[in-house]
Amino acid sequence: MNRTEFVSRYGNVYEHSPWVAERAWDGGIVPGADPAPVFRRIVERAGQEAQLALLRAHPDLAGRLGVALTAESAAEQAGAGLDRCTPEEFAEFTALNGRYVERFGFPFIIAVKGLDRAAILAAFRSRVDGAPQAEFRTALDQVHRIAGFRLAALAERPAPTSTAISYPDLHALVARAVRAAGASEEHADAVADLIARTERDGYRSHGLFRVPSTVAGLRSGFVNAAPRPRLLPSAPAVVDCDGDRGYAPLAYRVALPALAERAAAMGAAVLALHNVNHIAAMWPEVEWLAERGLAALACTGNFPYLAPHGGRRPIFGTNPIAFSYPRPGGVPVVFDFATAATARGEIMMAAREGRPAPPGVGIGPDGEETTDPDAILAGAQLAFGGHKGSALALMVELLCAGVVDDHFSIDAPSNGSYVPPGGIFILALSPERIGGARTVERAEAFLRRLETEPGVRLPGARRHAARGDGPLQVDAALLAEVRALAEGGQAR
Ligand code: NDP
Repeated sequence: MNRTEFVSRYGNVYEHSPWVAERAWDGGIVPGADPAPVFRRIVERAGQEAQLALLRAHPDLAGRLGVALTAESAAEQAGAGLDRCTPEEFAEFTALNGRYVERFGFPFIIAVKGLDRAAILAAFRSRVDGAPQAEFRTALDQVHRIAGFRLAALAERPAPTSTAISYPDLHALVARAVRAAGASEEHADAVADLIARTERDGYRSHGLFRVPSTVAGLRSGFVNAAPRPRLLPSAPAVVDCDGDRGYAPLAYRVALPALAERAAAMGAAVLALHNVNHIAAMWPEVEWLAERGLAALACTGNFPYLAPHGGRRPIFGTNPIAFSYPRPGGVPVVFDFATAATARGEIMMAAREGRPAPPGVGIGPDGEETTDPDAILAGAQLAFGGHKGSALALMVELLCAGVVDDHFSIDAPSNGSYVPPGGIFILALSPERIGGARTVERAEAFLRRLETEPGVRLPGARRHAARGDGPLQVDAALLAEVRALAEGGQAR
C-alpha cells in the first residue's frame, strides 16, 4: 500500500479530515497494523485549533451546515433512522442544532451506531446545555468512537477498485436510480443523459459522482420530481422558461429548441431559465447550440461558496461559464469552467479520495489559505485569477439574478441536498446572421491556424478525444452505491 492508497482508504475515518491519515502515514505507520491508537494520538496531540477544525468539518445530523455527508456518514445516519424523521422531530433537530452551533461553534456530533432517533434526541437535548469545555471533550470522544466503528467496518471491506460498465448500461442505471427517487420517466431520462454523457467525456466530478446528491434533491422534496417546464410570454428575442423546480436537463428539452429557433431567425436571442436546479457541467447546453450553427455563452450561479476577491466569507457561487462556437463538420470549440479556481466537485472528490486540494483554491473557516479540502468546504473557495475571476463571478451573479429574474447565490435557499437552485442565462448568437455568410468560414480558417500552433489545443478537443465506444471505467464503490439507489435503497 502506498501513501495515496492509505489516505484514500482511511481519509474519512475522521470525517472530512484526511490530514489524520496523512500524518499517520508520514509518521511511519506500519501498513496492516491497527491504525486506531495512532489516529487517536495524532488527533489528541494536534492542538485545540486543529481539533476545532476537525469538529467543524463534521456534518451536523441533518446534513444542513454546508458540509457534505460522506457515504459513511449518510449510511450511519440512515441506520439510526435519521433520514425518516417526522416533521416535528426534524424541526426539533434543526432548532437544537441552531442553538448548539451558536453555543459551541461546531455541530452536534454523536456516534449513532446502535442508537435510535429518540435516544439521539435525548442526548442532543441534554448536551445542548452542557459546559463548553466539557462538550468539546465529549465531541472529541464521540469522534474517536465513530472512527472506531469505521475502522472496524473497513477491516471487513476490500480496498476500492474501478470497474467497467457500458455507456447504455450506465445511462439505464442512472435513470433507474433517479426514477427510484420518484422522478418521472422523462425527467429521469433527461438527467441520465447529462450524467452519463459527462462521465463518458471524462468529467468524473460531474458524472456518476452526482447521482447521490441528485437523488437526495428529489427525496428532500426540494426538487420537483415530475416538473412540467413551460415557456412564458416574452419579448421576441427572449425565451423565458419556468423550470417548475425540476432539474435543468428537462427544461432544456423545451427551452433550447426555442432559443435556437429565435437566434437563427433574429441573429441573437437569450434564454432566461428560472425556477430550476442545475446539477452538473454546462458544456452540454452550449455544445448542443454549436451543433446547430450557433455561438453560445451560458452561466449559472449556485450556493454561496466563493469569497469575493479580498473577502473572507463565501458570497458568490462557483459560477461556471461555458462558451461554444460552431465548426461545420467538426468538433465545436467549447470551454466550460467554474469562475472558482477549481470546481467544487473537484474539491469534494479530493475530500472523498483523501487527497489535498491544489494550492490557491480556497481558505479555511479562519480565512487562511489551505490545501485541506475539508477546511475549504467549510470555509470558502477562491476565484481563479484573483480580482479578474472574482469580477467574472460577479458578472454571473448579475446575469443570472440581475437579468434572469432569480436569486443571487447568497440568497439560495438552503435545502440540505447540495443541489444548487438558481437562474440560468444563455445567450445564443448566429454568426451567419450577424456577420454574414462567410463569417464561420473565416473563423474556421483562424481555428485551423490555431490548431497547428505548437503546444496549443482547442478547448473541447480533449473531451471529444476521451469519448469512445468501449466500456467506461468507473469507481466500483460509487457504482455499487448507485446500484443500491436504483434498487430504491439509501446511499451507503
Ligand atoms: P477546468 O478548470 O478543468 O477547465 C475545463 C475547461 O478548460 C474545459 O473546457 C477544457 O476543455 C478547457 N481546457 C483545459 N485545459 C485546456 C488546455 N490545455 N487547452 C485548452 N483548453 C483547455 O474546469 P473546472 O474545474 O472549473 O469546471 C469543471 C466543471 O464543473 C465544468 O463543467 C463546470 O460547468 C462545472 N461546474 C458546475 C457548477 C454548477 O453549479 N453547475 C459549478 C462549478 C463548476 P476540455 O474539455 O477539452 O478538456
